[in-house]
Parts: sequence; C-alpha cells; structure tokens
Amino acid sequence: MTYSSNEFRVPPTMKAWVLGGPDELSLLEKPVPEPEPAEVLLRIDAIAVCATDLEIIRHGTPALIEGELPFHKGFTPGHEYMGTVVKLGPGVNEFVIGDRVAVEVHAGCGRCSRCREGMYTSCLNYGFHSRGHRANGFTTDGGFAEYAINHVNTMVHIPDHVSDEEATLIVTAGTAMYGLDVMGGLIAGESVVVTGPGPIGLMGVGVAKSLGATPVILTGTRERRLQIGRRLGADHIVNVTEEDPVEAIARITGGRGVQYVLECSGAPAALDQSVRMVKRGGRICLAAFPHEKVLVDLAHIVRNNIYVFGIRGEGKSATHRAATLIAQKRFDAQLIHTHTFPLTEVPTAIRYARERIEDAIKVVVKMRCQ
Ligand SMILES: [Zn+2]
Ligand SMILES: [Zn+2]
Repeated sequence: MTYSSNEFRVPPTMKAWVLGGPDELSLLEKPVPEPEPAEVLLRIDAIAVCATDLEIIRHGTPALIEGELPFHKGFTPGHEYMGTVVKLGPGVNEFVIGDRVAVEVHAGCGRCSRCREGMYTSCLNYGFHSRGHRANGFTTDGGFAEYAINHVNTMVHIPDHVSDEEATLIVTAGTAMYGLDVMGGLIAGESVVVTGPGPIGLMGVGVAKSLGATPVILTGTRERRLQIGRRLGADHIVNVTEEDPVEAIARITGGRGVQYVLECSGAPAALDQSVRMVKRGGRICLAAFPHEKVLVDLAHIVRNNIYVFGIRGEGKSATHRAATLIAQKRFDAQLIHTHTFPLTEVPTAIRYARERIEDAIKVVVKMRCQ
C-alpha cells in the first residue's frame, strides 16, 4: 500500500541503517513509521555525523533502548539531521506538509519532574520509550534513514537561505547555546574562553560572539581549526602546543581571567586549567568528557567562588535560539562542514569522522546528492 499526503508520496518501507553488534551497521528495509499525536513524519534530507554517533555505534552508550544497550534491536542511530515534513500526526497544526525543519535530539517524556522544568535532556525516564521518552538517535530511531518521527517540540523552521548542510549544524550550535544559557545566559561584554576547537567548541565561538561576548578566546592544538575559530569570531586564538593556556589567558586578560569557560576538549587536564582561567566567581561549563577520572584543585574552586556546570545536549529549547542566530547569518556555521556523502556511504562518512581523514570536522550525509 502506498498512501500519499498533500504533495509527498510516502512509501510503506524505507532504507535505514540499522545497528547490529558493535561497529555493525547494515542498510536494511524498514517500515516507514506512523506519527502519533503531537508527532510528524519527516523525510530526512541531510544528517551530520557526530562524535557521539561514533561512541554509540562502537560502545552502545549513551544510547539506551528500554534500559538496555542498543545492539541487535533494529535501532537506527543518527541525531543531527534536518528534513521536510511529509505527514502530520493526529491534531498537529504547528507544522504543515512541506515545511523544512531542523531538529533537536531530546523530546524527553513530558511527564517527569525534570521535563516539566524544561530539563528534558535530564529526563528521569531517559531510555524508556514505553514511558513516552524520545531522544532520536539515542533511545528512539534516528536519522541515518529516509524517514524519522519527530515530536513537534523538537523541530524548528528553517528559512530557504539556510542550506540543508548548514541546517544539520543547528543542533551542535544549540548545544553550545545551552552551555552558555546554563552558565548565565546573556553574555554581552563578558569574556569567554572556549577550550577545544571541535564542532561544539567552534559553534561555541560563533554563538558567544553573536551574543556580544568580548573577548572570545579559543584554545586548542590544531592550527587549521583554530583559524576556522578566528573566522567564526574568536578575538584571540591560543595554540596550546606553543603556549601554556593558563598563562596565555592571564596575558590576554591582563591577569584578571575570564567570566566563562566553555570546556569542549574533554582533555583530562582541562578542568584544572579552566579553574585557573576564570576570575573569582567565574563559571565553567563542561560540554565534553574525559574518558578517565581527573585531578582538580577543589580548594581553588571553593576559595574563589567558582561555579562548575555539566551539560548534556541542548536543553531549554536552546536549539531554537541557535537556529535564529544562524538564520540571521550572525556566524557562518558552514565553515565547519568539510565533507558530504550519500546515504549509501554512511560507513565511509563515519570513517572520515572517526579517523579525521583530510582533517574532517563535520561530515554530512545528504540524501539527494546531485
Ligand atoms: Zn551530536
Ligand atoms: Zn521526562
């Protein structure tokens, strides 16, 4: 049976990459899912590969299906996508068929106390779709497929002048935005260090600069990425292979330190260095995580009234605000997009991202490559 919506014929089955065991992805035929109330069916147009996808495909976590690892469950990963609304669930009037949208990952469950507070990235029912939780590409099917279901709360309209590829980067910018939100929100005139020029760090530079932060300082090891950071708005870049980052921040700020550090490197020494980069009462947001336990001078944090925040993903509708900045062309998110592959070449796209082939930063899979 083939049913049609206003303008789009939706087939009964679709191509989707499905996770078997660790590092086993297969391109299979799956039924096209049906949107329920407050949901729509999206035709995926483009999706970016995220470092977390690489974690999930190899180790399973942080994906969780009904409380278990996502292996051999017919699970489709991928969460940084955009697409076109092709079918509405019952009662949906927030979108119309044909709308172009970017998505955020977490819908949450909508019924636990954290979701009620807008902290749906910390949903207490995380991983239990049976209790209404949805985080596409983590706990429910994601976007390495031709179609996906999204809750209306997780979609944001994209204007025509934003390309498909650029729209896939909105969720990454949303994560950086959420980090700044959590630390204190409006940052005009305040100083920010972003540590680590990966995708979130580079988007963090663009978002911080757009919100009026000054100066914006980016630290890292890869010169080419630091130069991209400069084009995204960094006032200063510090190559930590050439200069001690703590000394560099002291030099740039005349010994005062900065108000905010957005830690995006995940380096084991990063938090201990960050506490020496902020001024008294400064704030540090951890947006990346080391794979080992780290040593930190806690006494320095206590004596200096330093605040440390952890974030997961892109809560409090930060993706919507990031989308606005990108739609207004406040910074050029496309600078971090380096490679494009078709849906059939998802494993190649993943290999480029994992091995950073040709210095890949954001690798995008485009469904309809010309
Ligand atoms: Zn991601
Ligand atoms: Zn919840």
